[in-house]
Amino acid sequence: TSVLKEDEISVSSTSGSIPISMDSIINLNHGDPTMYEKFWRQTGNAAELVIPGSQTMSYFSDVTNLCWFLEPEFAAEIRRLHRLVGNAIAGPDRYIIVGTGSSQLFQAALFALSTSPEVFSHGGGGRPLPVVSSVPYYSSYPAATDLLQSGLFHWAGDASSLKEDDEPYIEVVCSPSNPDGLLKTASVSSNSGKVIHDLAYYWPQYTAITTPADHDLMLFTASKCTGHAGMRLGWAIVKNRDVAKRMTKFIEVSTIGVSKDSQLRAAKILKTVSDQYELEEAEDFTKLFHVARNTMRDRWQTLRLVIAASNAFSLPVFQPEYCNFMKENTLPFPAFAWLKCERDIDDCESFLRQKHKILTRSGEHFGADAKHVRISMLDRVETFDMFIERLLSIDL
Ligand code: PMP
Repeated sequence: TSVLKEDEISVSSTSGSIPISMDSIINLNHGDPTMYEKFWRQTGNAAELVIPGSQTMSYFSDVTNLCWFLEPEFAAEIRRLHRLVGNAIAGPDRYIIVGTGSSQLFQAALFALSTSPEVFSHGGGGRPLPVVSSVPYYSSYPAATDLLQSGLFHWAGDASSLKEDDEPYIEVVCSPSNPDGLLKTASVSSNSGKVIHDLAYYWPQYTAITTPADHDLMLFTASKCTGHAGMRLGWAIVKNRDVAKRMTKFIEVSTIGVSKDSQLRAAKILKTVSDQYELEEAEDFTKLFHVARNTMRDRWQTLRLVIAASNAFSLPVFQPEYCNFMKENTLPFPAFAWLKCERDIDDCESFLRQKHKILTRSGEHFGADAKHVRISMLDRVETFDMFIERLLSIDL
């Protein structure tokens, strides 16, 4: 098989489109949730929205709200959806902050926590606060933390690298975890730290909903809940008023709020999801979490069969848990496969790319080793099927 060159990757990979031929490059490097297009096509015009030219013109959404650029309709649908799914406490006593993706909210959270006198009363001592996460951590955390070389915080890597002293720090907990799908809890048990809980994947299509999450600062995103990554909308649920205020300040200064058009569209999309569960006559194929979970389960079953037959790779092993939303025991079906190469191939990413035209993300980006790769399970059916075909053809 020929070796892939960089320019070939950019012109012929499947990212954003379906593979055009049997030897197309299969791009599973990003978590692009195009799998969900099929579901939304089936819903017809239920989630369609028309915005007249005269609407959404003002910067302001609700000047009586602490987060003044948050559309009230969107906030109401967020609270309604969390109540329906039971995955987070999002009652009226919690602040909701909207962001351009949860990516912007991650930055807003770092800013808010590292500058808040209420949170770190003894301050950071003028030194940048360490930001840690347990390995393997989401590859964007280090990049986003260190992008501006801030004097407020800096990336300090694996949570275990932190010394158990009284220095303040921030820990990011992603649960279920990107990349490996496991459930995580804060690993540093000291009073001097603050935790950002990234719950992007705490939805019933990926994992059992065992309890409503009730952390100080939780991040969610439409990207992984409904699949609308291009809408660029995320939300934070925050307990502390001062932290919520500073996060709002960060977004005010960086982008003067968040697209109202996107928020109205998101409100409509979340409303459609909740309506389908609350309407008596709704058909099963209109229930987002059930449809997406079935797809994820089928994909994981297929992948596990292929991997088990090959002996060359392994996948994480999960335990079933009772899901309060689905009302049954379920295994996790993560958005990513954290694949480990069990043979004497040290660089799994290069092996899959160069020999098999499959683009994945190396474990090294997640603080782990190059024997691991992260593979998106959320692509379109054509891409996923071709990926499985290609895996079957690997002869080790
Ligand atoms: N957190 C995690 C764990 C993610 O996987 C992603 C998307 N890959 C994000 C945050 C960012 O999501 P958004 O599209 O909302 O910026």
